[in-house]
Amino acid sequence: MATDFRLPTDRIVRPDKDRFLAEENPFEAMMSRFDRAAELLDLEPGIYKILRHAEKIITVAIPVMKDNGEVEVYTGHRVLYNTARGPAKGGIRFDMAVNIDEVKALAAWMTWKCAVVNIPFGGSKGGVVCDPLMMSVAELERLTRRYTAGIMSVLGPDSDVPAPDVNTNERVMAWVMDTYSMRVGHTVTAVVTGKPIEMGGSLGRREATGRGCLVVTKEALAHLGMPIKGTTVAVQGFGNVGSIAAMLMQNEGMVITAIGDRTGGYHNKAGIDVLDAMAHVKQHGTLEGYGKGESIGNEELLSLDVDVLVPAALENVITTKNAASIRARVICEGANGPTTAAADAILDEKGIFVIPDILANAGGVTVSYFEWVQDRGGYFWSEATVNERLTDIMQRSFQDVLRIAQQHKVNLRTAAYMLAISRVSTVHKLRGIYA
Ligand code: NAD
Repeated sequence: MATDFRLPTDRIVRPDKDRFLAEENPFEAMMSRFDRAAELLDLEPGIYKILRHAEKIITVAIPVMKDNGEVEVYTGHRVLYNTARGPAKGGIRFDMAVNIDEVKALAAWMTWKCAVVNIPFGGSKGGVVCDPLMMSVAELERLTRRYTAGIMSVLGPDSDVPAPDVNTNERVMAWVMDTYSMRVGHTVTAVVTGKPIEMGGSLGRREATGRGCLVVTKEALAHLGMPIKGTTVAVQGFGNVGSIAAMLMQNEGMVITAIGDRTGGYHNKAGIDVLDAMAHVKQHGTLEGYGKGESIGNEELLSLDVDVLVPAALENVITTKNAASIRARVICEGANGPTTAAADAILDEKGIFVIPDILANAGGVTVSYFEWVQDRGGYFWSEATVNERLTDIMQRSFQDVLRIAQQHKVNLRTAAYMLAISRVSTVHKLRGIYA
């Protein structure tokens, strides 16, 4: 018998939000957007309950022998939020700010993101509480391998596929892949994405998230009747996402007037040479000491008079405290969760066109999907093919979300959640509940 998700006794019971809706709790920020979209979709109460829960949460202690012989024990999490549409997909983050609510929120965002761009994955995320900048390469390798061993029960190309995120990279993915492969006794390239090209990585993956930001920003500018050439851009975060987005936007004729990272930022009305700044970061690790422009703080960067603002660092940078001072016409959310739910309303009121994270930064997971497909097929595509297919998916997804926004007279964030939730809930209805 088909599962009926609309039993008459069933009703939506929302937790007492005020009890724990701290503005900066990312899980609550995600849930409040989810609730709004669920209401507009008139989501079945049974599905609503299912989608409010993470499927699996693992927390592991990670003992690591430091180079000086001391033992340090780190804490790591892996959350599989939802796998209805396919294997879980989501990055691994190494950062002191990692906590379980953040990892749950990021895993849920991955679920919605994969659904927005309609790739056959669910969502997951992992994080280890550590400061990788204070660790040697050997310590990082030991940490990565032991964390991988700790979450081994969920990993696999058909079950959960990690990728890089804040402070992790291709090298870390190579260690995850090697550890997994040693444990199962044969080489499994498709267990991670964002790997080095030489071991099954995809051409174009490193640039994919930034490229996706470029594609949706161009779509937004066209929709708003704004030109591309001469459009001014401020980018917060100058790592994988921020630096590549800035470089590709500059290549298209946009003027990058400000960039910043954890050490602060630089403002130059005439435009910053992004490749030059990238070379500085390659040499010194951060933008500190770059010096080619007026030195500014991160708060100042957000409120600059620019056409496009790209927050591409961490979550909760646009809040009720600073949203009113933002002057950009378009915000392209390269980072996950850079805007708090409470700040959304202020941005709406100001008429700022926000391309939400689950759409704006979906280029990375889209090419991760391409990488997984290529690994499993054992046949690799040219960079031009990857970029062309990525551009198609990002353009189509932007237009899908815009259409829903126009139909329901809602902002793009709510529209993206509506699209994602309806796709995930359709699969739940088709699959029913295993009992
Ligand atoms: P990264 O580690 O390569 O870069 C992070 C950048 O943010 C660095 O320049 C760092 O200095 C800066 N930063 C850190 N703390 C900051 C602070 N308090 N103020 C200002 N800048 C700060 O990470 P990344 O891969 O570029 O990821 C950035 C964001 O994009 C994250 O939210 C991540 O979840 C999201 N994201 C990444 C990808 C991807 O493919 N890498 C895909 C989708 C979303």
